[in-house]
Amino acid sequence: MTKKNKETIAMKWSYSPALESKDHINLREKYDLFINGKWMKPSSGKYFKTFNPADESFLAEVAHADAKDVDKAVQAARDAYNNVWSKISPSERAKYIYRIARLMQERAREFAVIETLDAGKTIRESRDVDVPLACNHFFYYAGWADKLDYAFPNRKVSSLGVAGQIIPWNFPLLMAAWKIAPALAAGNTVVLKPAETTPLTALKLAEIIEESGLPAGVVNIVTGFGDTGAAIVNHPDTDKIAFTGSTNVGKMIQKSLAGTNKKITLELGGKSANIIFEDAPIDQAVEGIINGIFFNQGHVCCAGSRLFVQESIADVVIRKLKDRMRSLFVGNPLDKNTDIGAINSKEQLATILKYINIGKEEGAEIFQLACDIPDKGYYCPPTLFTNVAQSSVIAQEEIFGPVLTIQTFRTVDEVIQKANNSPFGLAAGVWTDKGSRIFNLTTKLKAGVIWANTYNKFDPSSPFGGYKESGFGREGGLHGLSAYVKLS
Ligand code: NAP
Ligand code: MG
Repeated sequence: MTKKNKETIAMKWSYSPALESKDHINLREKYDLFINGKWMKPSSGKYFKTFNPADESFLAEVAHADAKDVDKAVQAARDAYNNVWSKISPSERAKYIYRIARLMQERAREFAVIETLDAGKTIRESRDVDVPLACNHFFYYAGWADKLDYAFPNRKVSSLGVAGQIIPWNFPLLMAAWKIAPALAAGNTVVLKPAETTPLTALKLAEIIEESGLPAGVVNIVTGFGDTGAAIVNHPDTDKIAFTGSTNVGKMIQKSLAGTNKKITLELGGKSANIIFEDAPIDQAVEGIINGIFFNQGHVCCAGSRLFVQESIADVVIRKLKDRMRSLFVGNPLDKNTDIGAINSKEQLATILKYINIGKEEGAEIFQLACDIPDKGYYCPPTLFTNVAQSSVIAQEEIFGPVLTIQTFRTVDEVIQKANNSPFGLAAGVWTDKGSRIFNLTTKLKAGVIWANTYNKFDPSSPFGGYKESGFGREGGLHGLSAYVKLS
């Protein structure tokens, strides 16, 4: 253990380790591609390794799909669409989606442990948030499969065909569920690519799909890097591309799809404002701010990474935030006491540290939890910056780590202007006692999701998505279903 700060540590309760067991999980040494209901070797014969970012240990080898493999997967999805999935009754489709949800639920603990091992997120989150929400997405959309005419009354509803889906590493299983469940419910077939650093839960999902008896080719899972994703995007026989990831890659995808007939949804980056007024319940707001930025190590596209505090309460809020930060545990994500787990990769840790340095160089004041961190693995203590200028890089660019910037404001108009002064527009939070003020802000803030007196709450029935450089299209709820249908 390194970087001990006795004063900080003395203020905390000390807990005995409470490690979640890994005994019950079943991981293969090597994973092939899941195409047409079978496990296929990659045509190049190449595999890459996936690691546990909490201790840098090896987890499994995973196939690297190239354009030939993607072609096989799209062909399988097309055949399954033409011959089976578009022909069976909607209630049959629902039956399979329910079955996938139930099988996932039965193996929830295994999914949670594998997600924690592969992604570095805390077991508390993968157990209580990622996995249950992923199951709920399948349950929710299973319910719509035979009710599409009620979902879109007086319209003729038809499916699109083959959907190519590309997801990031921050919520690997949940993002797979957000993509696959509505696509299947609406009658489409799927080729999905998980992120390079977190392929394992998508591959476990493939095992469940196999077990569920879903007809071969309806869901195909291809693992690989950016080139695998690009091969899906550029394949001429996909009808829809759904992408969640960085704004840069999203822009490239939009360019390469310009002029094609493909339907597209992009869920991209964010720099969301969390706004706290002087009449807010301060202790609850402090919890919400902590949850908003430190949840999942700040690897949350809608993280409340910019805090705006009304000037009159700034001192007390900052003091309470620092106090609360001192009680957080950073460390092994498999330990149930851990609040902040591992950063997903060495590269992402380097990016976060780069931004922390920029913040210092820009003259902002830094407060960082001094704590023990394990010798191996990628960790970043929770960090906040005060005295941050609106134009500073750390207040403008997405950091995607546990780093909060704090600015103050005096009036409602001022904070609306500051909050909207961002290239992104994914989410926002408003903390106040006044309902009328909440409604005023929700109409004026340019953000796809606005939470009032809470933060980072998700439900399969609520649409999620952004404005501006945070992308377009919605996932979740009826809006999420409409992204996978043609209406006439
Ligand atoms: P990323 O680099 O854009 O990668 C996302 C996915 O795209 C990965 O599977 C990646 O594969 C693949 N990819 C990379 N280059 C590609 C290309 N040229 N064509 C097609 N696919 C390509 O993003 P990330 O760093 O993994 O994820 C973090 C970002 O996602 C953040 O900006 C975050 O805000 C955003 N995000 C947004 C939402 C939302 O709902 N708005 C949700 C979660 C995350 P490899 O992993 O193999 O590179
Ligand atoms: Mg990994």
